Amino acid sequence: MIENLMDTYKRYPISFSKGEGSWLYDSDGRKYLDFAAGIAVNVLGHGHPKIKKVMHEAIDNVWHVSNLYHIPEQQKLAKKLCDISFADKVFFCNSGAEAVEGAIKTSRKYHFEKGDKDRTDIITFKNAFHGRTLATLAAGANPKHTEGFGPLPSGFENIELSQQQLEEKISNKTAAVLIEPIQGEGGIRLTPKEDLQMIRDLTSKHGVLMILDQVQCGLGRTGDFFSHEWAGVEPDIITLAKGLGAGFPIGAILASTDASSGMVHGSHGSTFGGNPLACSVALSVLEIIDEEKILSNVKSLSEFLLTGINDIIENHKDKITSVRGRGFMLGIKCEVENTLIAETALKNGLLLVPAADNIIRLLPPLNTEKKDIEEFFNLLNMTLENLPR
Ligand SMILES: *Cc1c(COP(=O)(O)O)cnc(C)c1O
Repeated sequence: MIENLMDTYKRYPISFSKGEGSWLYDSDGRKYLDFAAGIAVNVLGHGHPKIKKVMHEAIDNVWHVSNLYHIPEQQKLAKKLCDISFADKVFFCNSGAEAVEGAIKTSRKYHFEKGDKDRTDIITFKNAFHGRTLATLAAGANPKHTEGFGPLPSGFENIELSQQQLEEKISNKTAAVLIEPIQGEGGIRLTPKEDLQMIRDLTSKHGVLMILDQVQCGLGRTGDFFSHEWAGVEPDIITLAKGLGAGFPIGAILASTDASSGMVHGSHGSTFGGNPLACSVALSVLEIIDEEKILSNVKSLSEFLLTGINDIIENHKDKITSVRGRGFMLGIKCEVENTLIAETALKNGLLLVPAADNIIRLLPPLNTEKKDIEEFFNLLNMTLENLPR
């Protein structure tokens, strides 16, 4: 019963009993176009037949053994992730926050093992979101999330994103710079290409590691597999989670051999991390992204999506004013309250996610089809016309 749940979430008064592709169905059989995708998690929509099959097969084998033993599925998944990225080494965990927390540990331990024991500080940026554990709360430095939870771990500096600010703060005490290439919770704010390059230059110059938190913006969401590819920079560490298991919980830290060199026997662990079931599912997610040409789907349809949204903005300038983001990670800037738009959209059969800065987030499944996007235009128009005054 609801009274037995900790009251941490403000929930919409609805639950779902069935899902297929980009659509969810409630218990009365009403259908909803799912452009929330479990907050960028259901990258292949609902009920994908190949994922169902892989899950069933994994359940018929062993689904958990712990990291006391070799796990072939984990090795295969790690190899695949390294093949498609800069990385040489992977650590598996269960969530985004756990991945970011582990990436922070990886960067501190890197310097420690090299004898640079004072390099412990992590530089992060305004409007960031890195998770809800104590260290990732310190990294995000958002008073709305941190209040009442202190004392937070020390060694975090949260600054404005600018070359001058970073030059001032980066020093021989800095372990890593941690940034989302596109801020998600913070309101779909794209880090300009030039800033990613500037951060890479300064971190390299000062012997500091560059960590990209791609928990939300990675895994094909921008139309590239990783969301730094378009900027032509190579990070030292990446964090992944949300989309990796397409709904099955799994997170990962990807690193170069050098950046991961401090993570020796016994230095880190996670009981559930990378169990056979989770890894089988994630491996099939990566295979499906190849087989079904998911990245080119995102690239070609995001243009169509953007053009359509801009047309809708033209007719509803008093309610929404602009659109930003990349690929299937878009934010619509609202003139009226974003939560009012999300609530009205739900009543009209459209699922959307509010974000900071009065933004409505669109995070459709990456295999969403053109006809679903056309349906989205109808539902968004209807929502804006039906907004209560
Ligand atoms: C969601 C998110 C996290 C936290 O992930 P959880 O799985 O909720 O712990 C961390 N970083 C970013 C960028 C995210 O969007």
